[in-house]
Amino acid sequence: MTQTATLTTIKHFINGAESAGTGGATQPVYNPATGAVSAQLNLASRQDLDTAVAAAKAAAEIWGDYSLAKRTTVLFKFRELVASHVDELAALVTAEHGKVLSDAAGEIGRGLEVIEFACGINQLLKGAYSGQASTGIDVFSFRQPVGVVAGITPFNFPVMVPLWMCPIAIAAGNAFILKPSERDPSAPTLLAKLWTEAGLPDGVFQVLHGGKDTVDGLLTHPDVDAISFVGSTPIAKYVHETATAHGKRVQALGGVKNHAIILPDADMDNAADHLSAAAFGSAGERCMAISVAVAVGDAADTLLGKVRERAVAIKVAEGTEPDADMGPVITAASKARVLKIVGEAADAGATLVVDGRDFTVPGKEDGYWVGPTLLDGVSADMTAYTEEIFGPVLAVMRVETVEEGIALINANPYGNGTAIFTSSGANARKFQRGVHVGMIGINVPVPVPVAYHSFGGWKNSLFGDKHIYGEEGVAFYTRAKVVTSRWPEPQHVSDASYNFPSN
Ligand code: NAD
Repeated sequence: MTQTATLTTIKHFINGAESAGTGGATQPVYNPATGAVSAQLNLASRQDLDTAVAAAKAAAEIWGDYSLAKRTTVLFKFRELVASHVDELAALVTAEHGKVLSDAAGEIGRGLEVIEFACGINQLLKGAYSGQASTGIDVFSFRQPVGVVAGITPFNFPVMVPLWMCPIAIAAGNAFILKPSERDPSAPTLLAKLWTEAGLPDGVFQVLHGGKDTVDGLLTHPDVDAISFVGSTPIAKYVHETATAHGKRVQALGGVKNHAIILPDADMDNAADHLSAAAFGSAGERCMAISVAVAVGDAADTLLGKVRERAVAIKVAEGTEPDADMGPVITAASKARVLKIVGEAADAGATLVVDGRDFTVPGKEDGYWVGPTLLDGVSADMTAYTEEIFGPVLAVMRVETVEEGIALINANPYGNGTAIFTSSGANARKFQRGVHVGMIGINVPVPVPVAYHSFGGWKNSLFGDKHIYGEEGVAFYTRAKVVTSRWPEPQHVSDASYNFPSN
């Protein structure tokens, strides 16, 4: 018997039920801590995609007409179900992503915030009314669902990123098809079962597994109306261009290179604690991870020593270990990429203050381990700066002034998140106004906005106009209607005119 015969198969969720699909193609899913295949993933055929889109289109017609009261009843129930399945979801995330269990639970917590926000959809869709805008004329505006939304999500937050999208899209009356990352598909698939248990009609939330073919099918399908994408910059750009060319509205969040500026007046212990957690937590695979520390003036030497102390004390282990601080990276290819970039930095003259390249966990040598790595003396021409590393690597750069630090950030093609550590309000204000970045932390290293604000970057970190979740999310998943109405008295004298009407 082959090993794959004993493995579980992760299925699609189409029109209210699990489905193996029609094509028969599968691909392996790995446990990054051991390198072992943990499951086989069904890959959608074109027929599966057409079936899901047809079910979504039919479901959107019905669901979009549900009263707000009925929709929010489902949302509240879904919130309770996700909250009562945090441990189960987190275990699935850890098994396929590798992050530590507490971190996996944390991402589900941030996803829950978006569900809670979406529970208030009746307030968010209230619209506006102008009585007697002109004589005898009232004008009112309201928003309606766009129809069928597809969400294409990355591996690094397999629950949180889908929950950035689907609660709001569904609360607003759309049907939603999720195409999760093929690296860690189990937890997002469980969300489908929870939606169904919450009372969501069949076809309103579906999960299709696959890679480029499935994505391309969604981007070009005439019955898909909107695309929410989160992933790397080249794919985000491609998704944006392809889907807009096919007449869809698109928000495509891309890759990142997040800098933190540390001023000499910062509380250095606090800055070192936060920098270390922000750079190495989740093995640096967070879209808001800090990967570049920009030390101003003489901040660098104090800071380096303190971050070094923290980096070497990090417990790297399988995410299920109770005392683990950090797990493996996602794939063998990801590990190879990180090691290559670190090697190139060393060759180009950077100092390896902490070198995590030879790290392994005894007994789990086939896992994709990279230890925390601290590079000093990184310059803007090194690949450690020009590439998105997406691993547990913190590059330290040195500048003389806060203005020089802001200029460095603004010259970088990415603009997702950034932070400043300082005790100077004037410098913090200069920074918050001057940086060309979407999300800014002041003495906060990972400034992921709360759900009632919106999340999004600038430059190569976002293609499209709307940030994700919050009120921008509501706007993205709805279309505006404005009604200009007149109810004349029976005996009125017509005021129709060949001139442009004004009153
Ligand atoms: P990825 O771009 O490789 O994959 C994202 C999604 O696109 C997946 O569902 C994948 O199946 C699909 N995909 C991959 N290649 C494709 C192709 N050629 N054509 C069409 N679809 C394709 O990203 P990833 O490795 O899963 O995730 C990590 C990346 O996501 C990093 O670059 C990270 O910065 C980024 N990210 C950004 C944010 C943000 O908020 N800006 C949030 C999370 C992750």
